[in-house]
Amino acid sequence: MEKVRVRFAPSPTGPLHLGGVRTALYDYLFAKNQGGEFVLRIEDTDTARYVEGAEEYIEEALEWCGIIPDESPKKGGKFAPYRQSERRDIYNRYTEQILKTDYAYIAFDTAEELDVIRAEYEAKGDVFSYDNKTRNRLRNSLSLSEEEVQKLLDEKTPYVVRFKMPIDRTLNLVDIIRGNSSVNTNTLDDKVLVKNDGMPTYHFANIIDDHEMEISHVIRGEEWLPSLGLHTLLYEAMAWEAPQFAHLSLILKPDVSTLINKDNIDSITKSFTDEFVTKNSQFSFDESAAIIKKFFSEVKSPRFKSMLGENDKDDEITASVKQFLKKGLSGKLSKRDGDKFGFPVFPLDFKDPATGNISKGYRENGYLPEAFINMSALLGWSPADDKEILSLDEMAKEFDLHKVHKAGARFSKEKSEWFNHQYIQLKSDEELLQILKNSDVDLTIDDEKLLKIIHLMKERATFPKDIYENGKFFFEAPVSYDEKASKKAWNDETSAVLGEFATTLESTEFTSETLKQAIHDFAENKGLGMGKVMMPLRLALVGELKGPDVPDILEIIGKQESIARINNAINNFK
Ligand code: GLU
Repeated sequence: MEKVRVRFAPSPTGPLHLGGVRTALYDYLFAKNQGGEFVLRIEDTDTARYVEGAEEYIEEALEWCGIIPDESPKKGGKFAPYRQSERRDIYNRYTEQILKTDYAYIAFDTAEELDVIRAEYEAKGDVFSYDNKTRNRLRNSLSLSEEEVQKLLDEKTPYVVRFKMPIDRTLNLVDIIRGNSSVNTNTLDDKVLVKNDGMPTYHFANIIDDHEMEISHVIRGEEWLPSLGLHTLLYEAMAWEAPQFAHLSLILKPDVSTLINKDNIDSITKSFTDEFVTKNSQFSFDESAAIIKKFFSEVKSPRFKSMLGENDKDDEITASVKQFLKKGLSGKLSKRDGDKFGFPVFPLDFKDPATGNISKGYRENGYLPEAFINMSALLGWSPADDKEILSLDEMAKEFDLHKVHKAGARFSKEKSEWFNHQYIQLKSDEELLQILKNSDVDLTIDDEKLLKIIHLMKERATFPKDIYENGKFFFEAPVSYDEKASKKAWNDETSAVLGEFATTLESTEFTSETLKQAIHDFAENKGLGMGKVMMPLRLALVGELKGPDVPDILEIIGKQESIARINNAINNFK
């Protein structure tokens, strides 16, 4: 059996988004599952769309995810170079080869000429397509005489190479995930294979490289499904065996009802309104915002979807808002969704070199790479027993392309946070200490104490920084006391009781065990319920009635600081 070789072939046109990471991940998982190889190839033939730094970003993102290519531009390999811009000689050879077949021809039409023709078609309400119905009326080696063609070539007239789409053939297309389908060649156009600068377009370079690099399986996003007919014919034209194909469905926008709450409704309304009025400048911001907010306040109601339906009684602005929201809340997950709802769509932060805009990354938002790839992998695939927490190796063992879902997978912010929480629990205290030390949290506390804090706080942490943020009281004395908690925990006698307790603390050994006993004995001696001591004590130490067990807090804060905080509280409630 031939060796399984799978490639991930991104174009360096910007940062890799979640959908791209998932494609790379499925490529990798399938290759590893089959004992095969995973190749990273950079498809940079489209210089107009090239973005500085995008290739480095892609490599770094894959590395962070642990999706390590066996061959890549950085690593090299048997089929190097892995950057298409460096493979020109190879493409030139195959351009000559395809021109000798009946599957390609050269065309001299300039972009301007084609624009004029396109406009003529549009004026008649038609759409122009360079295809088997129009090609004989255009300027190419099929319509011109041999002499005319030779003359143009001698004059160094620029030309492109086009694919000669066969007439009226029904192609059978096979896809591992989607099964069989068919397409008639009369619906396909004569795509440009080689541009007038001699560089191949995506379609031609892509199949040449897949052939040259001995790729056995092409696993890629569903946006390439419409190209499958052309690609199948290109393999036929070159008399090469085609790889097997699998097209992955889209990652869909999250369910908006899980994202909007009373804390963020105003900011989300604002970003939707900004976009709405940019597109519909005839409406005022305030009026639009009011309507959008009205819809968003009903977002959790089961009627929400039907409320967006058309209604004859709607005025112009309401009808436009409805249309805008319906479109904006469904379909493919986009970068803008992340911006609006406050979740990352990219693995790492990316600064657009042209605009300076920063797109937020999972890494910088405190996600662990294990959680991020686990979440991404389950967007469209479920392992046999519906297990949810799987390492990269476990996923590779279980991965099955036939079990990848045909339908789009809905992204969920909640679920991605859930995964991160789970993976934080799986980390040892020492590992979390390293993560916190490497983050931008400013910690001036010794490791031993920090480890204890991590141990107590990780259970409630979704992100590493939560350990610090939910445990701020370990690092800083409270500057105020929560009003409701104060009413509940402090009464006229409390100051005297806590004052006395503080004195007993002077001679108490500061370990959680002894402290627990000391609080217990003190309360018993005074004939007080435990809560009468524990609650105000917690308030004095934390500033509110939350946090881990009080003896644990006391131990970590230490004798001097604990007594000082108790006295501060007594002074405060005087
Ligand atoms: N360069 C293409 C992209 O960026 C690759 C498509 C394919 O995998 O064939 O999506």
